[in-house]
Amino acid sequence: MRIYIKGIEDERFYRPLTLIGNLFFEETELCFTKGDTPLEAEFFIEEENGMISIAGTLQTEAGQQFHAKKQKQLPEELEGKEHLRQVKNTLSYVYLTLLQEYTGIIQKWGILTGIRPTKLYHKKRQEGMSEEAIHRMFKEEYLLSEEKIQLMKQIVQRQLEVIPDLDHLSNEVSIYVGIPFCPTKCAYCTFPAYAINGRQGSVTSFLGGLHYEMREIGRWLKEKGIKITTVYYGGGTPTSITAEEMDMLYEEMVESFPDVKNIREITVEAGRPDTITKEKLEVLNKYKIDRISINPQSYIQSTLKAIGRHHTVEETIEKFHLARSMGMNNINMDLIIGLPGEGVEEFDYTLAESAKLMPESITVHTLSFKRASEMTKNKHKYKVASREEIGTMMDHAVDWTNEHGYAPYYLYRQKNILGNLENVGYAQKGQDSIYNIMIMEEQQTIIGIGCGAASKFVHPETRKITQFANPKDPKSYNDHFEHYTTEKINIMEELFN
Ligand code: SF4
Repeated sequence: MRIYIKGIEDERFYRPLTLIGNLFFEETELCFTKGDTPLEAEFFIEEENGMISIAGTLQTEAGQQFHAKKQKQLPEELEGKEHLRQVKNTLSYVYLTLLQEYTGIIQKWGILTGIRPTKLYHKKRQEGMSEEAIHRMFKEEYLLSEEKIQLMKQIVQRQLEVIPDLDHLSNEVSIYVGIPFCPTKCAYCTFPAYAINGRQGSVTSFLGGLHYEMREIGRWLKEKGIKITTVYYGGGTPTSITAEEMDMLYEEMVESFPDVKNIREITVEAGRPDTITKEKLEVLNKYKIDRISINPQSYIQSTLKAIGRHHTVEETIEKFHLARSMGMNNINMDLIIGLPGEGVEEFDYTLAESAKLMPESITVHTLSFKRASEMTKNKHKYKVASREEIGTMMDHAVDWTNEHGYAPYYLYRQKNILGNLENVGYAQKGQDSIYNIMIMEEQQTIIGIGCGAASKFVHPETRKITQFANPKDPKSYNDHFEHYTTEKINIMEELFN
């Protein structure tokens, strides 16, 4: 959709306007000259005595007009970034209101387009804002629906029950280990996931680099006396390497990392059932891995085929039972709403199958069209459900989890997510993943090691975030892992001294 924008000269507002537009139309293009532009939005911005006032008009080609206005008293002495943020939010408010009226679509997340809405909730809570004031802010300034505000409130409360010292963990770190191999690549995936077959050489050198990173990072943490809160093996599929390779890797972890027995949680994504074997489960048990994921995504065989997952539904169920029988007592299962060819009926079937297994946690994702995925590149081949249907499936997930004793404990949103909804992790009592909360709420440093592992260094006092990414492809990683390790240690030297 091409939209002619008048009255906005400051380029810093273009991105927020585009993001709001994209909530309603597939691709929004802001235009600054009139031409082939079916919609025209004009804004008038005034600021006087600390009062910001923005009025907007949206006009269609047929001459239909919509109007919206928002006034806001800014706190005294507001300047720089914070001032810009307030003006940006006010403008987004007006633009969203105009587009809601024009399309008839109500955005339940209002003007919040970011990935981590609950982080904002925590920030306001930590600043001392009361629950009522936070509620009012989300409702009146961000235009969030009651349903989403309640969801955030519930999640924040739950997180504080699971991690009562959440606000005081910035002196510890968590560790993410990225293993970039999978049996085959799923159509919606943009993670570093290289088909493992025929790559043994590259797997071996990759693991050499990973052992090095573990040793060096572990040594530095020990020297500084910094504790590890959680460790998460992701990727890729960390169980796509052999049982022997897993054994050596976890042994390295135990030897290199400080105080491993007191790490609160170690998770290994065993995401693809086709990688799970009895031998690998024995290794996981040997190193007392607390939590694994076995991801069905869907229990409909034709869907798995369509998205490039070369395993059967039976295999998911069989591997779940195998893991259970071998003592795994914290298993997560990921589901995806809106997979190609699936509607409410198919998703209900997947929920009914989940009820037979009752894993300790279920993460319900909503399909998102990520730019680099096979699915996005060939969008025409994949038929997905309508916005209404996606909404209904999400409602069914909420009801189902509630009825089966699960509660939401973390959430995140993505760009181009179907129906502008969210991904929510649900867990039975006491089975919430601490790592998932830490990564979403950004309350402490997460050191990423391995391929495609993103590090987030959170300053222990200011909470300012420095990002650093390891390369995604094994070749660059294998060539430069020492450099990436040193860079991370240098960043941490500055932060933690
Ligand atoms: S199993 Fe996960 S990481 Fe591997 S290709 Fe599929 S979605 Fe990507």
